[in-house]
Amino acid sequence: MEQDQKIENLPRTSLSTIRKLKTLGIKTYFELLNYFPFRYQDYSVISTINLLQPGEKVTIVGKVVDSQQIISQSGLKIQKFLVTDDTGQVEAIFYNQSFLLTMIKKNLIVSFSGGVEIKANKIIFLPTEYEIGKPTIHTGRIVPIYVEKKGLSSRTIREKIKIALESVEIGEILPEEVRKINHLIGEKEAYQKIHFPSTKKEIAQARERLAFDELFIIQLSSTLVRKSWQKEKLDYRLYLLPEIEKIICQFINQLPFRLTSDQRKVWEEILSDLQKTSSMNRLLQGDVGSGKTVVAILAAYFVYLNHFRTLLMAPTEILAQQHYQTFIRLFSTIDQDYRPKISLISRNHKLISEIDTPGSKEDLEKKIFESDIIIGTQALISRKKSYDRVGLVIIDEQHRFGVKQRAELKKKGLNPHLLTMTATPIPRTVALTLYGELDFSFIEKMPENRLPVKTYYIPPTKRKDCYEWIKRKIKDEKAQVFVICPLIDQSDKETMKSVKAAKKEYENLSRIFSEFKLVLLHGKMKQKEKEIVMKKFSNHEFDILVTTPVVEVGIDIPEATIIIIEAAERFGLAQLHQLRGRVGRGSKQSYCFLFCDKETKSAIDRLKIITRINNGAILAQKDLELRGPGEIYGTRQHGFFELKIASFSDLRLIEKTKKTVYFFISNNLLQKFPSLVRRISSLEIQKISPN
Ligand code: ADP
Ligand code: MG
Repeated sequence: MEQDQKIENLPRTSLSTIRKLKTLGIKTYFELLNYFPFRYQDYSVISTINLLQPGEKVTIVGKVVDSQQIISQSGLKIQKFLVTDDTGQVEAIFYNQSFLLTMIKKNLIVSFSGGVEIKANKIIFLPTEYEIGKPTIHTGRIVPIYVEKKGLSSRTIREKIKIALESVEIGEILPEEVRKINHLIGEKEAYQKIHFPSTKKEIAQARERLAFDELFIIQLSSTLVRKSWQKEKLDYRLYLLPEIEKIICQFINQLPFRLTSDQRKVWEEILSDLQKTSSMNRLLQGDVGSGKTVVAILAAYFVYLNHFRTLLMAPTEILAQQHYQTFIRLFSTIDQDYRPKISLISRNHKLISEIDTPGSKEDLEKKIFESDIIIGTQALISRKKSYDRVGLVIIDEQHRFGVKQRAELKKKGLNPHLLTMTATPIPRTVALTLYGELDFSFIEKMPENRLPVKTYYIPPTKRKDCYEWIKRKIKDEKAQVFVICPLIDQSDKETMKSVKAAKKEYENLSRIFSEFKLVLLHGKMKQKEKEIVMKKFSNHEFDILVTTPVVEVGIDIPEATIIIIEAAERFGLAQLHQLRGRVGRGSKQSYCFLFCDKETKSAIDRLKIITRINNGAILAQKDLELRGPGEIYGTRQHGFFELKIASFSDLRLIEKTKKTVYFFISNNLLQKFPSLVRRISSLEIQKISPN
């Protein structure tokens, strides 16, 4: 049977189990096989009953000679099974599992795995697993333990995986040669051993092979995407003619600040891409406030001087407006003849434009036609009408990069240069593996007038003092304060729970800071309301803004110099760094205070790292090392695709798989491995339509 076989066809499986598997995202046999154990319990020692020692974790096999349920004084239901073998007898005891009385019947041979304890001077057995008959998958071996979700027990998952393994054909995706060089076991063997290993060594071998597969497929896929993009030649070309170069130089000299060396470097990288015959696919990464916008402006200007148009998409309406104003402001020094016309398409496709044609609505298309730079949200690209002469599309603060946007632009019949900008700190190893189809530019140093945000971890005993200190800052220096409420659900959408928590915190703080003006901002508010709150906060009509973590507050508020982050231990370091970036935008000293909800030593140690380090990419790398790739909180928010079994910090394996990708491409091997081709295409679908 093929591995893409639908999960509905799984033998001996009830409809309700199938439904549960599907809610876990498991739609095919193969996806079921990729639901890996998160740990194993070693029950491979099979003991005779007379040799049981307290403290051991073992398996016994014997005949059930008696069973009963008793109810303890506290109401606990206890199931007792008397088990005998040739050497003796012991009581196997379960708690609150009455259904077992109908499963484990008298006179049956049953295997039990669990721990041995002494109670009232008697040896008792506390099984965690049982199996009717001799041990096969649940007992008497290294037993795989799965994450139990959506009402599916580890036991059921184990059984279903066993069935899938028996009935499916697993195609090899690597040539023998590659397996040999890299000391990898076969694909089929790896799936068998990851779920049902006989030894610890087999687990390691299986992990190595499957992690290799995972990294290899991701890298191969992005290399193929990159190649296909390079093949598509543009039907226009942009040139850096001497007069254009001169105008741009003048523009740079007239900016209100001097470009930092990093800004110059990334501008040169972009400028060089823009002159090529194939489209640019570059990701510009720089911390919040590092000055990415001006680079975008230079790129748009260069495109304009070549008589092409730029589209700029921001994630929110507020940020689009802010960009519009920044663009207008920075271009205002330029002589009218060389100044691009800028428009903002707002909600409902309304147009705000400096192009002053009377008669508004009907003229929308005309104005768009006349604009050189069009700014808006994602709605820009979902407009029915397309744009002509688009030379560059800039996407600001996107969580998914490249593949998805290209696909969308293509649907519109556009094949422009593409510049994506993000403040999400992407560790280099992630960039190399996951986004191999893109070129990267990094702005690492902040503009010089910027003071690093002073960051402190505040223990509960100091909370009051901290509030007092903040009150003085508000009174004496008119400081404005952000309060970030705890991250309650790991979700990119606002949930009612977090809104409630924020409301509660807002009420609580309103009491503590009663002499000041507070305001609440959360994601369930209407867009219009949110804008009003932000505008008022930035006009300094409020002192303290209380907000949930998922609300995007990308707007520049130079007077905001203090940020409090509640339950900071629930965030990843990189996330904390981004939150902290909401302050420290002006020339004044800013402060970030981290409060803990659950104080553990490891949480505090981790938070102390961010009090010392001010660089997003380094913090992201630390996150990877400290918490492991699967555990970076908020990965979904960042759009990082989560690895199932490999690790982004495994440089050794990343190097190996990179070589293998090269080997595959240069020897044209892909077509010989149809199951590999299938797996690449399913990965691409995931990248284009997340979740
Ligand atoms: P981000 O990278 O987060 O988009 P912005 O482009 O909004 O950052 O820049 C943040 C602030 O820094 C803006 O107010 C901008 O005018 C200012 N800025 C940008 N580049 C420089 C520079 N080289 N020197 C001083 N200030 C700068
Ligand atoms: Mg920005």
